[in-house]
Amino acid sequence: MDQAQFSRARAALGKTQARMAELLQTSLKAVQSYEQGWRTIPAHAEKQVLFLLALKAGNTRGKECWTVLRCPPERRRRCPAWELKAGRFCWFVNGTLCGGKAQASWREKMKICGSCRVMESLAKFR
Ligand code: SF4
Repeated sequence: MDQAQFSRARAALGKTQARMAELLQTSLKAVQSYEQGWRTIPAHAEKQVLFLLALKAGNTRGKECWTVLRCPPERRRRCPAWELKAGRFCWFVNGTLCGGKAQASWREKMKICGSCRVMESLAKFR
């Protein structure tokens, strides 16, 4: 997520910078720095922003990942998204097996999830 995407996300959430700082449990200065491009948006902040956007967008409805992606049963059974019934928020769950194995980091995971149909509604913020 870059500074423009962060600003777009904040606008989509209808939050002031101060309120966004509270939602991200960070400082107003940090939020201002993200939007000025003075600081890279850390993975935990990006993840929280996408989660808030997904909730606001009502992503609690719609098909689960294993249906959308026709996930093979033997992979599905080993995947935390299936185990935790988090098929609409699989991109938020670490350790999912979409790429055949768990990704080592949020950035690695977003290389897969970022272009996935499950995360389509959030694409413009990524
Ligand atoms: S997140 Fe897990 S259950 Fe969902 S499609 Fe990927 S591997 Fe299958």
